[in-house]
Amino acid sequence: MSMEIRVDRERCAGSSLCMSYLPAVFDQSDDDGKVLLRTPVPGADVAEAVKGAAARCPTGAITLHARDAQDA
Ligand code: SF4
Repeated sequence: MSMEIRVDRERCAGSSLCMSYLPAVFDQSDDDGKVLLRTPVPGADVAEAVKGAAARCPTGAITLHARDAQDA
């Protein structure tokens, strides 16, 4: 089972913590400084790092959602 990342850009404070922590997955908008997702469905190899980034987000803007195989 893979997971999907969702970011709530309304909640994002543009702290850039997630982008610094995992730049392969999270990016920062040049327009408003808020988070952008590079990889909404990351591979299993970065799953633990993604969980770490979500846990560190100061505004709780990053949430993780399980994806069943049927969703693919
Ligand atoms: S860690 Fe959270 S608040 Fe900071 S840029 Fe990423 S999503 Fe936004």
